[in-house]
Amino acid sequence: MNTHISESIITRTWEFGETDLLVSFFTTDRGRLKGVAKGARKSSRRFANCLDSFCLTRLEYERKSGRELYFLHSGKLIHGFPELRTDFHALSLASYMVELAETLFPLGVSEQRMFLLLKNAFLALGGHMRKEELRVLFEAKALALGGYSINFERCCDCGRRYAAEGRAVFKQKKGGIACLKCEKESARLPGLDPDAARGLDQIQATPLTPLGDSQKALLTEELMNEMKKVLRLHLSYSLGKELKTARYLS
Ligand SMILES: [Zn+2]
Repeated sequence: MNTHISESIITRTWEFGETDLLVSFFTTDRGRLKGVAKGARKSSRRFANCLDSFCLTRLEYERKSGRELYFLHSGKLIHGFPELRTDFHALSLASYMVELAETLFPLGVSEQRMFLLLKNAFLALGGHMRKEELRVLFEAKALALGGYSINFERCCDCGRRYAAEGRAVFKQKKGGIACLKCEKESARLPGLDPDAARGLDQIQATPLTPLGDSQKALLTEELMNEMKKVLRLHLSYSLGKELKTARYLS
């Protein structure tokens, strides 16, 4: 038998047939998968309270021969993240994080660090860090895991090494920064204070550091705002689209 057991985050579900549930889940070891939970809407004993969106669940599942679809045998709830269901802002941000993770990692592409980042982010959403800051940290780390780190090493025009001493200009088409000799700041080419550049570089280099107050301790509101502008441009350019769930976040 090809039965697997994985710690998983339920990302979304759809009603399927009369009594079944189609479940999309992000596993710790096999990436994101889709499976059918037979009868899950009728008798819930095998899946007691563990198939709601964002639940952290230990799932037992099996691949149906030669198909993309898995068959879910049972699930056991590990963490339900109840805070996500009672706070609209937390719920919206969790949906946004899931959409970003799903966009960066299509079905079956395995990346354990993305799973851990999502789990850490859901834990942090129940804490008292501001959602706007949590979003900045998550975007930078998720994009880095997806292969879209911003290059802070050198000026993307003249190639001069960036020592984080003067302001830098972000260029979305290059996914990197330019020095002030090569480029001017504008709305389309936002600038970064050296502390913001260094902070962002460090945040994207440490995807698994728990998302808490420690990583933004040295960042003022102003620096956070600079990072936010740069990340929004970088994200939409890298993904080639805006995420649908972003509109609920303003
Ligand atoms: Zn330059």
